[in-house]
Amino acid sequence: MSCSLGDSRPWQSLENVKVVVIPSGSWEQHGPSLPLYTDTLIACRVAEELARKLDAVLLPPLAYGVSHEHMDFPLTVTLSPETYCRVITEVLESLEKHGVKLAVIVNGHGGNRAALEACVARWNYTRRLKALALWPWRAVEELLEDEVHAGRGEASLVAYLQGGEYKGEGRLCHPLYPLRRTSECSETGSIYPGLWESDRELGERLFKAMVEAVLEETLRAGRALGVLD
Ligand SMILES: [Zn+2]
Repeated sequence: MSCSLGDSRPWQSLENVKVVVIPSGSWEQHGPSLPLYTDTLIACRVAEELARKLDAVLLPPLAYGVSHEHMDFPLTVTLSPETYCRVITEVLESLEKHGVKLAVIVNGHGGNRAALEACVARWNYTRRLKALALWPWRAVEELLEDEVHAGRGEASLVAYLQGGEYKGEGRLCHPLYPLRRTSECSETGSIYPGLWESDRELGERLFKAMVEAVLEETLRAGRALGVLD
């Protein structure tokens, strides 16, 4: 997997940093042909591009997330929402101590959203450092109406970001997902209506739209806070 472990410079070059970008992913089943690190890869690469465009510092990815609904599949790992929020909070506390003003968290996993957004809202209420939780998939919702988990969209992004071809078959589990476990409605773990295969060009379009959207949201927030020009 090609995903940065974080900024490669030594600490002397990392003094007085005001803006950092943190990818947040998961380690969970992604259907019949995609890797368990799919969400982390996507979050990581979007975050990398965002950090480059902002001239901000990229931090290492948080590669575990909140993945209870997928636990019936081999080797999926989940954190509780409490632990996930605790980790995010302690990372933010460390960064605040070093004078960072804005931490942008690029989240690649839908199951993290509720915990992350609540966690960050509570944090921002009282703290100097502001945390911005971004969901890059919002930017491509119209392009991929039926994408829920491990379908054509994620397969196309993985194909674009790391090469390879991926295909599979899923089931759209609405309206019961995520009231039921993934395994109760989709044998393959893919939640998508029927057959799908990866399309690198689609992956490139999705990736670029995601980067553009997170950049726009970050600039809007950073300017409002007086941290970005
Ligand atoms: Zn995913």
